This record gives sequence, C-alpha cells and structure tokens, in this order.
Amino acid sequence: MKSISIIGSGPSGFYTAYHLLKKSPIPLNITLWEKFPVPFGLSRYGVAPDHPEVKNCEETFTQFANAYTIPSGSNNLMHKFQFIGNVQIDSEKLFKLRSIQDCVILSYGCNNDKKLGIPGENDTLGVVSSRQFVNWYNSYPENACATPEQWKGSDFWKNVKNVAIIGNGNVALDICRVLLTSNIKQYWQNTDINQASTEAIKHVSNVKIIGRRGYEQSKFTNKEFRELWELEKYGIKGNIDSKYLSNVDESKLDRAGTRRLEMVKEYMKPFDQRTKKNYKKFKPPSTFTKFWEFDYMKTPVKINKDARNNRISSITLAINKVNEMNKFVIDNSKPCIDYPIDFLITSLGYKGVNIDELGCQKHLNNIKFAGDHLATNREGQVLSSVDNKPIPGLFASGWIKTGSKGVIVSTMIDSFTVGDEVIKYLQCSATSNQQASIIDLQNTVLDSTNYKPTTWFDWLKLDAYEKKLGNPRRKIINIADMLKIIGK
Ligand code: FAD
Ligand code: NAP
Repeated sequence: MKSISIIGSGPSGFYTAYHLLKKSPIPLNITLWEKFPVPFGLSRYGVAPDHPEVKNCEETFTQFANAYTIPSGSNNLMHKFQFIGNVQIDSEKLFKLRSIQDCVILSYGCNNDKKLGIPGENDTLGVVSSRQFVNWYNSYPENACATPEQWKGSDFWKNVKNVAIIGNGNVALDICRVLLTSNIKQYWQNTDINQASTEAIKHVSNVKIIGRRGYEQSKFTNKEFRELWELEKYGIKGNIDSKYLSNVDESKLDRAGTRRLEMVKEYMKPFDQRTKKNYKKFKPPSTFTKFWEFDYMKTPVKINKDARNNRISSITLAINKVNEMNKFVIDNSKPCIDYPIDFLITSLGYKGVNIDELGCQKHLNNIKFAGDHLATNREGQVLSSVDNKPIPGLFASGWIKTGSKGVIVSTMIDSFTVGDEVIKYLQCSATSNQQASIIDLQNTVLDSTNYKPTTWFDWLKLDAYEKKLGNPRRKIINIADMLKIIGK
C-alpha cells in the first residue's frame, strides 16, 4: 500500500483523490487535508449562490468520501481515504508529510489577490478585491471575525449607489449580478447567500465594469453575459456604448464571438423591436431602476478619497489605445478621466501563495513559484527552486498549478491528468509500505495538542445542521461555532 497526502479539499483535491482511487492498481491510503473544518473550497465559497447547479460536484465528492472513508462499511475496499479538516498545512508540516508519505499533492488553490499596484488601492475605505467581496456574500470563515471590517456594515452601505468593478471576467459578472439583484427577495430566497450582505448592498443602483482592453477581448463567457441581460425582467438595464462595437471586425469572430455580438445588438434594442424570439423571453417593466454598463479601453491610475473619512470618492482612469505591436497601452495624448464612485471592486483574478512562506519556515521545501502559482513540469510534478528539477514525490493539481483560470470541469480534467502521472510515479518508485494510520499521521504532523482536526463524519454532522437552518442551507460563518456544533 502507498500513502498519499493531498493538500486542499476543493474541486482539484477531491477530483485528484477520486481519480486515484478509481484508477490506481496499487492499493492507496489517501489523506485529504483542509485548512477549514469544512470541505469543497471555491465550490462552497466562490461559486455564486444563484448557480446552485455548479455545486453538483459536491454530491460526487460526498458519495466518493462516504464510500471510502474509514471506519465505515468500507473495510473490504482495497483503498482507504480520510479527510482531516481544520488543519492548515504550512512549510513545516509539508516537510514532515513528505518524509512519511509516498507522495504529496498540492491542491490548495489560489487564496490571495492580484493587485493593480496604484495609489489608494490598499488604504482607502471602500476599495476591496473580488475575493474579499465574494468571501463576504458566500459566508467565508476568515471574514467572520468578531469585528467585521468597516466596509461590511450597513451604515457604510447606506450611501453606496455607484460601484465600479475593474476587470471583466466571470467573477466580475457574478459580483455585478449580486450587487444589482440584492433587493429582489424572490431571486435569493432559495439560495445560501449571506443575507446580511444582500441586505447591506440593496441601495446599489449603478455598476460600471471597466476593462483595460476592447470589447472583443472581454473575458466573460456568453452564458454569464446573457444572465446579466436577462435581469431586465427585474428592471435592471444593461448598456455598452456603440463606439466599442463599431470597430468589431465581424469576419474575424468565432462562433461564440458572433453569438455575443448578436446578443448585444438584440438586447440593446427596445423589447418590441427585437427580431429573435430568444431575446424576447421576459418583458421588462416599463421603467428601469438599476443599471450596469461595460466600459472599455481604460487603465486605472489612481484612487481618490475624501480626506474627512478616507472613503473612496472617485477613480482616475487613463485612456488606452492599440499600438503598432497590437498591444493595449495608455494613450498619453489623451487626458485622464475621473469617475465618481462610492465603492470599487478590483476583479483581476486570484493569486496563489507559496506554501513555503506559511508557518515558521524552519524547514523549506524549495518549491519554485511561477508568478501567481507553482511551477511544475508538464505532468504536474513540482519544480525545485534550487535546480529547476522535479521534486520527487511532490505534485500539484488545480488552480495552484494552473493559476486562477478555468471552470470546475477544466479543474477536473487537470486533476485527472495529474492523477495519472502520480500513478505512473508510484508504479516506478520503490515500495515503502508506509501505512500511516490516522493516529500516526496526526501525531507526526500535528505536533501540539492545540489542534482540533475535523473528520469526514464531523462535516456530515455540520452539513445536516446547516441544511436544517435553511433551504438549501444557512452556512455557519464562525469556525468556533462550527466546532461547537460538531462537539469539539
Ligand atoms: P479551491 O477551490 O480554491 O480549493 C482549494 C482548497 O484548499 C480550499 O478548500 C482551501 O481552503 C484549501 N487550502 C488552502 N490552503 C491550504 C493549506 N495551506 N492547507 C490546507 N488546505 C488549504 N467554476 C465553474 O465551473 N462554475 C462557476 O460558476 C464558477 N464560479 C466561480 C466563482 C468564483 C468567485 C471563483 C473564484 C471561481 C469560480 N469557478 C467556477 C472556478 C472554480 O471555483 C475553480 O475552477 C475551482 O474551485 C478550483 O479548484 P481548486 O481545488 O484548485 O481550488
Ligand atoms: P479572469 O477571467 O482572469 O478575468 C480577470 C480580468 O481582470 C480580465 O478582464 C483582465 O483583463 C483583468 N485584469 C487583470 N489584471 C489587470 C490589471 N492589472 N489591470 C486591469 N485589468 C486587469 O478572472 P476571474 O474573473 O477572477 O475568473 C477566474 C476564473 O474563474 C476564470 O477562468 C473564470 O472563467 C472562472 N469563473 C467561472 C465562472 C462561471 O463559469 N460562471 C464564474 C466565476 C469564475 P485582461 O483580459 O486584459 O488581462
């Protein structure tokens, strides 16, 4: 039997474990480590609450964990699986794990923010990253501390009407939808959104989504784009200035691009003048009360604040052009413009953290970092910062390997590929027979009694508790409360 530890229980950690146990001819003892008492990563804490179907992967993970977790009715199975939650793996713990496991797979996602790097970004009230904002409406535990940041209070939001989002990926569209529909009770009633957040942001009426490149380089996908337009049935109107569409070379568009352009053109027409049935599904009310707009070709250069209360007052943007090399650059011949806004969300993508930078760092693993994520060779083996060679027995899957790109399905495909490589690696490596039991593993890795690790069965208990509180669930925000409910 070979032993494997996987760090992180998001889609990549679970899909990697799932694939290994389905495909490995060698008996495996897999431990899935998670920093929170609860599993599922961004499926639980990232995916928008009005996209419940995306979370169906959790059903697959649950069936899989129920079948393999020891001790249950699974003792006859060739493989073993255990979940250990509420333990953050740092450089020290990873170092220990590598010495007692045949293989360690880093699947801990991207838990930090990409930054604009402009004045006012880090010290102005009312400027947050998409990660911070999404965490708030998704009841992420780290944000549930006793003294919430000032921007989360309803007093703060009383005067927030105009919001700008920098970046036009799907996360920006999720946030725009949440901001503008927060006052519509029926829209959110059967979701697990944090109700305190929707209540706070209900006065927001205008959202501008600002891209540094042109309309054709928009990062969102068509399904999410259509969802925004369809909000017109609630009196929420969208707009894209025709100047951004006039230069589009239609002959160069792919199928998705052609569809997208048709969508814009149709939805920009008054309802009765639309030519295709597809765009006439829901007649909007006679007046619109909330508005969103896509804005392009602008680079944020400065965030301006009200000196009396340190709150954001406006954002200064430079106008961009396309240069001779076909690159988007600031057009210095044009003056900057100021947009007065009450709140700014930078939605630039998530950034990975090097696990070697966590903990006391007495023992480093010499993991090479590649900008926003870990450096790996083609098949997922992590590269060393010392000699750029693959580190034996250390692999990565999911967002910490690829950076913050891709949907759950692409994360699944990546995890399966890495799983195959891990099997090949284990087949070639010497037999080690390290059958660390749960107790051994915990004693070796968790060197103090201060840890309160959670098991898969603890999670099932908490899961049932949350589902009793609401439909589909009401998430417990505070880790101390989670542990109390579990009885730890
Ligand atoms: P994660 O999901 O981030 O999982 C990483 C896990 O590791 C987390 O549980 C984390 O707590 C844990 N962890 C971190 N550090 C440690 C540590 N040191 N020790 C132990 N555990 C640790 N995809 C779709 O298909 N549809 C959508 O609608 C969709 N919506 C999204 C919305 C948002 C806001 C975001 C950001 C992404 C969305 N995605 C969506 C993409 C999808 O969430 C990702 O593809 C997927 O979650 C990546 O999985 P992962 O396991 O690599 O990372
Ligand atoms: P993303 O798709 O990478 O979009 C990031 C946006 O930020 C881009 O518009 C990018 O512009 C812009 N940007 C980055 N750095 C910038 C800078 N310094 N200045 C100005 N703009 C900057 O990231 P995301 O929206 O966070 O999504 C992450 C992944 O999750 C994506 O793969 C997404 O599809 C997936 N996701 C999927 C869903 C869904 O399926 N419903 C929902 C949410 C997320 P450029 O294009 O010019 O670089």
